[in-house]
Amino acid sequence: MEFDSPYGNKYADLLSNVSNFNIIESTLREGEQFANAFFTTESKIKIAKMLDEFGVEYLELTSPAASEQSRQDIKAITSLGLNAKILTHTRCHMDDAKIAIDTGVDGIDCYWSSSYLNFLSRKGIEVRFSSEDSFRSDLVDLLNLYKTVDKLGVNRVGIADTVGCANPRQVYELIRTLRGVVSCDIECHFHNDTGCAIANAYTALEAGATHIDTSILGIGERNGITPLGGFVAKMYVADKRYVSSKYKLEMLREIDNVIANEVEIGVPFNNYITGFCAFTHKAGIHAKAILNNPSTYEIIRPEDFGMTRYVSIGHRLTGWNAVKDRVEQLDLVMTDEEIKAVTQKIKTLADIKPLGIEEVDTLLRDYHREIYGRNQ
Ligand SMILES: [Zn+2]
Repeated sequence: MEFDSPYGNKYADLLSNVSNFNIIESTLREGEQFANAFFTTESKIKIAKMLDEFGVEYLELTSPAASEQSRQDIKAITSLGLNAKILTHTRCHMDDAKIAIDTGVDGIDCYWSSSYLNFLSRKGIEVRFSSEDSFRSDLVDLLNLYKTVDKLGVNRVGIADTVGCANPRQVYELIRTLRGVVSCDIECHFHNDTGCAIANAYTALEAGATHIDTSILGIGERNGITPLGGFVAKMYVADKRYVSSKYKLEMLREIDNVIANEVEIGVPFNNYITGFCAFTHKAGIHAKAILNNPSTYEIIRPEDFGMTRYVSIGHRLTGWNAVKDRVEQLDLVMTDEEIKAVTQKIKTLADIKPLGIEEVDTLLRDYHREIYGRNQ
């Protein structure tokens, strides 16, 4: 397909699914394996509804065989009538599959057994076949196995970087090869131990994968998997129109905050889109450029995510253009020379300690009053 790149050129890539993918949101399965996670039925329902409204295509839930409460929770969520399809994991036991089907799920993830696969396909349920630790498995064995299950009629095969060791080049090569071997969909699950989870997800789509696993804030086993917000940020940059039409982007902040509260962590300062400084500009030269044309230093429009840009001015790196912008916001009228002089004042004070926005505003108003008197 042909699509826009952030650099303005158009190019065609026949394998790429960058503008045609599904999110399998696994906060209620992988996320439950996060050290701090303990979701009550009530909070699972809240999270499921929120993700459904955001627009994810699938929700993956903890196996009903894990505990009695887990089974009841799946039933509660499948009865909500959400648009998102509900998936769960099972071990390769017929009993597990029967329990799962009774909860009303739309799809099941399973491991190897042809009689088991036959049983599931007779039930008209979506079936994913996956292996663990795909990047450390023997490639020939893996491809043969997936070719066989593809012929048996599974809907998807799954590739999992269970230990988080893969890099984007390895991902591209494996998925591209697999794409040539199976005709079914390809789902990918990337752990983030070495910081490649978002890049790997993106590259997998470029190589022909169709489904990506995410969790809110990336929570999961160890340091987790591809985070929903970071993945969406990456895909938005690749194809803004497609991503904005599919997902309610302005919900991301609420989604990240709800999970941060649930699992008692903060949203990281450097988090994609929702981190507190994701749209803060500080250096004088950046601030000047941003005020003229935001796209110079912003690849993501904060407005599209219901966020606001902030230009920080009360520090020693500030510049007079940023101060001028604030002066205009405060409805004060000053010449450029006066603004340059007051900027110098701010820099001198900020060399001792940074100033809050209220302090800067007071300083600007006082300075204005000194020159023009009270009534101007
Ligand atoms: Zn995992």
